[in-house]
Amino acid sequence: MLKIFTKILDLIFPEQFTCNFCGEELKEHSTSGLCEDCESALIKNNGNKCQKCSSPILDESKYCLNCQNNKRYFDSASSVFIYTGVAKTLINRFKTSNQKYLYKTLVYYMLNEFAEKNFPADILVSVPMSDKKLKKRGYNQSVLLAGELAKRLNVSYCDCLIKTRDTLGQHELPRAERLTNLNGAFSVTDKNLVKGKSVVIIDDTFTTGSTVSEIAKELYKAGAASVNALCFAATKLKADGESVDDEIIVKEKFGVKNRKKYKKDKNSSFYLPESFSFKNPHCNPYI
Ligand SMILES: [Zn+2]
Ligand SMILES: [Zn+2]
Repeated sequence: MLKIFTKILDLIFPEQFTCNFCGEELKEHSTSGLCEDCESALIKNNGNKCQKCSSPILDESKYCLNCQNNKRYFDSASSVFIYTGVAKTLINRFKTSNQKYLYKTLVYYMLNEFAEKNFPADILVSVPMSDKKLKKRGYNQSVLLAGELAKRLNVSYCDCLIKTRDTLGQHELPRAERLTNLNGAFSVTDKNLVKGKSVVIIDDTFTTGSTVSEIAKELYKAGAASVNALCFAATKLKADGESVDDEIIVKEKFGVKNRKKYKKDKNSSFYLPESFSFKNPHCNPYI
C-alpha cells in the first residue's frame, strides 16, 4: 500500500525523475536530486578557510578579517560549498522562486558535513524571520532546512528564537552599519528550552557571520552549553572581508583554459556549464 502511495507521490512530484538544477532526466536514482554534471559543478569549501567560521579566504591567513576584527559569539561555523555558480543559484531559487522542494537537495549535502564535523547537538535551531518578511515570502527557508536535518539526524528541532524587529539585509548596507544592524534583533522565547543544551544553528548561507554571531550571543545568554553553526554555502572573502566576485572563483576552479566551457548567463552573475539548458521550465530561474 505504501509503495503504491509512494509511486503516486512520484507522479505528482516529477522532480525525482529530473535533476533539481538543470531539469535533465536522471539516468539513475540520485539521492541529492542533482545529475552528475550539476553535482560536479558545485565547488566544495575545502581550500584555505578561516579556522573559526570556515569562510573561504584568498590568502593563507588563519582567520578571516571578520573573525580577526569582531567578537564572534559562536564556537565554530561550517559551510559545505562556496557560494557561487550552482550552489548560489540553488539557494536563490530555494529562497526567492518558491522552489521549496530544493531543501531536500541542500539537506543531503549538509548531512554529510554534519557527520564530518561531529558537532555536539541536543537541539537544532533556525534563523528566525520578521513577521513582515515571513508574510512576504510565505516560508522560512532556514526552518525547512533545520526541520529536515533534525528529522534525519533524530535530533530535536527547537523553535525557540524570534526576530524582534525588521532589519535591512546585510548585503544592502555599508560595512560599518552591518556591524550594528542586527544588535538586539533576535531573542530567545523560553530560556528553559536552551539552558544546558548544545545548539547548532542551521542556515542556507554564511556571509559575514553577523547573524549567526548575534543569535549565538542570545543563546549563550539563555544558558546554552555550546553553539555551532552549519550552512549550505559560504561566500568567499577578499582581504578586506568583502565577498569575492563569482568570476574569480570559477576561474580558480576550472582554470583559464577550461573557462571557455563556462558561460556567464546574460540575465545574472551565475556561471553555468555551456551544456546546461533548462529543459524543464520548472527549473529555469529566469522565467
Ligand atoms: Zn543537472
Ligand atoms: Zn572567520
